Amino acid sequence: MTLEFEIINRYFKKNTNVPLGIGDDAALINKNKREFWAISQDTLNNDTHFSSDTPPVELGWKALAVNVSDIYAMGGKPNYALLSISLNQHNEKWLKGFSQGLHACAKKYGVEIIGGDTTRGATSISITIIGSVFKKNVLKRDAAKVEDDIWVTGKIGLAAIGLDCVKKKIAMKDGLKKTFIEYLNKPQPSNIYSLQAKKLFHSAIDISDGLIADLSHILKSSGVSAEIFSNQLPVHPWTKKNEAYHYALYGGDDYQLILTAAQKNRSQIELLAKQEKIKLTCIGKITNGKKLKVFDTHGIPLKNLNKGFLHFDK
Ligand code: ADP
Ligand code: MG
Repeated sequence: MTLEFEIINRYFKKNTNVPLGIGDDAALINKNKREFWAISQDTLNNDTHFSSDTPPVELGWKALAVNVSDIYAMGGKPNYALLSISLNQHNEKWLKGFSQGLHACAKKYGVEIIGGDTTRGATSISITIIGSVFKKNVLKRDAAKVEDDIWVTGKIGLAAIGLDCVKKKIAMKDGLKKTFIEYLNKPQPSNIYSLQAKKLFHSAIDISDGLIADLSHILKSSGVSAEIFSNQLPVHPWTKKNEAYHYALYGGDDYQLILTAAQKNRSQIELLAKQEKIKLTCIGKITNGKKLKVFDTHGIPLKNLNKGFLHFDK
């Protein structure tokens, strides 16, 4: 267990009376007979989640998008958001850009900003999001079943490549660099709401800390294991060409979804995803094994899997 989760469990986790409290992508509280409110909060801190030269318009987008992603991961639909922002100075140009990006994201995902808080301090943006989810459509981390297919939305590992471009750890042509940095700064969560309305999936999580790290939460909560095939991962051609699959396995910040579903739903999922223009790729399956197995492109199991992004570990 990582220190981040040790802190949460030791100091903040108490028994509650809500239908779902700490431990999933969002908490659930009763809305009416048929629906829950799904509530979640995500924070972006200067130097941890973005740098001072991150364009404010993209930061505004990202601050909300990372929260939208948590509501989709519950099978829900985002509705409202509250914005708490700390700023170290009053910078007109920055605020204009930030708010533009925020409102563009809100418009795209159908979210209304209904409140928040504005303070002076080290730059930090925290958004609380409220969504709604039909009780029969809820997706939790603990419901993956042995033999389920494992699906991911969109493409993965691109944001992590973008981060290495920003940090100048890798070099590539300007056009390509721009593409990857856009994935890092402007995540586009995939709306699977219409698919889940047909109850096609068993469980879900969004990828914030990396495919392996976040899949591991599903596996642990569900008491199962998995097999993942690198050659099935939806990666950018650059990743294939450079055999840089570690970006897709361990890189964070994708804000795509990992979903599990019964194999019998495979053709319906593929058909609906096509109709709804959602990219969905089957990357492996849930097993009753003891250990998560990741096969490289030659079909050889990888040794020493990393755990992805850890907030407190050195
Ligand atoms: P996510 O990556 O989906 O945003 P996290 O990994 O940040 O989720 O958090 C895991 C769970 O712990 C979530 O249910 C979250 O609400 C809860 N959590 C995180 N930090 C705290 C805290 N300080 N107090 C109470 N609950 C927390
Ligand atoms: Mg999440």
